[in-house]
Amino acid sequence: MEKTIHFAVVPGIGYSHLIPILQFSKRLVELHKEFHVTCLIPSLGSPPSASKTFLETLPSSINCTFLPPVETKDLPQGITTEIQMQLTVTLSLPSLHQALKSLSLRTPLVALVVDSQAAEALKFAQEFNMLSYIFFPSAATTLSLHLYLPKLDKETSCEYRELPEPIKVPGCVPLHGRDLYTPAQDRSSQTYKLLLQRVKRFGCADGVLINSFLELETGPIRALTEEGSGNPPVYPVGPIIQTGTRSCDDAKGLDCLAWLDKQQPCSVLYVSFGSGGTLSQEQIVELALGLELSNHKFLWVVRAPSTSASAAYLSAQNNVDPSQFLPHGFLERITKEQGMVIPSWAPQIQILSHSSVGGFLSHCGWNSTLESVVKGMPLITWPLFAEQRMNAVLLSEGLKVGLRPRVNENGLVERVEVAEVIKCLMEGEEGGRLRKRMKELKEAATNALKENGSSIKTLSQLTLKWRNLALENN
Ligand code: UDP
Repeated sequence: MEKTIHFAVVPGIGYSHLIPILQFSKRLVELHKEFHVTCLIPSLGSPPSASKTFLETLPSSINCTFLPPVETKDLPQGITTEIQMQLTVTLSLPSLHQALKSLSLRTPLVALVVDSQAAEALKFAQEFNMLSYIFFPSAATTLSLHLYLPKLDKETSCEYRELPEPIKVPGCVPLHGRDLYTPAQDRSSQTYKLLLQRVKRFGCADGVLINSFLELETGPIRALTEEGSGNPPVYPVGPIIQTGTRSCDDAKGLDCLAWLDKQQPCSVLYVSFGSGGTLSQEQIVELALGLELSNHKFLWVVRAPSTSASAAYLSAQNNVDPSQFLPHGFLERITKEQGMVIPSWAPQIQILSHSSVGGFLSHCGWNSTLESVVKGMPLITWPLFAEQRMNAVLLSEGLKVGLRPRVNENGLVERVEVAEVIKCLMEGEEGGRLRKRMKELKEAATNALKENGSSIKTLSQLTLKWRNLALENN
């Protein structure tokens, strides 16, 4: 029997920093039966039920342990979501250290793979004689900006959003400063300083694994992996998306799939803002009336309004009552024929796989982006926070598989604009072109994961390295 090769993973905080690293682990143990994973999970309060449900689907070669949770009351008041996530990791470091110590006494560990938020934990790899990797759950474009940021920071004296020309990060679609990720929008903020600190740690890792693939982000991936670039080794291993989840166990999820069963092929627009994106009250009204005005069928995952777009990211909204914030009479009118709203959470993978769905109005979180690519679903790009605007630029200007609605001077997408962009995607010639290009990307994604595909080959290089090291250590 082959000897077990053991590695440890440390996810970041929040659903979309937990699932991809575990899904990566799952792919690895499925491809290479001798691998065994221990996942040490830092968390802020109690994890959301969607995360717990996912953990139940993992094979026995992946062991998950929650580190003692950090409580919200232990964090300073009024800090941003990013700082909450970062502090949670920092406060979990002593228990992580302890867990790694007792694990390494029981079994030799070949590698430590940490989510990019948990880069502080890389220092433990050396202590326990492991290789160290960052799992980067966002685009290669975002990683490129990360690694370019120290130089950009030195060369720029104003806020990036004030720069008259787009920023040219090597290999990437030019990005306007206003489209850079949220932490880079205010260079005097603590979030920006933390980001710069975190990025500097990337250079200490033995490699960075990215959830992307060569055919999707050819320019940035080539630039990142170019000899002499000075970057740590970069391994594109994507697309890694959720599979086999049981997120539609609940009645609401099953209802919306039953509703989709009754619709025409490619007729429904799916509308969702990720695991925790929220809109203002005013924007909810414009979106609702725009959806109605478009005359197209839709399935919308709604959340209660908030003035902060990431309000529900770390604290899931329960008991949402859409009648409290949707326009008067909207629910009665649309549920007769045109649409369905589902509060808080829907089985997204099953929805995007359904033949009735023909488009996705998305906040462009990287997981949703990859899920659209894998399912061949063209997009309306509606970014809210984090690096979503950069993903929207990649999708609409780079890959040309998404339409970006116009935002007015008050930051609102008006109802007429909503209706027009939906019509353009669902019935227009341009929509047809986007759909065709997305089908090509879908095929490229499938190929990247075939036996000789780009990402599977990259993964094999990595596992060979780990296997050799495990042999040397024996
Ligand atoms: N998701 C889901 N149902 C929902 C909303 C989100 O299953 O109602 C999943 C979605 O499939 C994706 C993840 O949550 O895998 C959201 O990740 P993403 O990176 O797109 O956005 P974030 O949550 O980080 O803003």
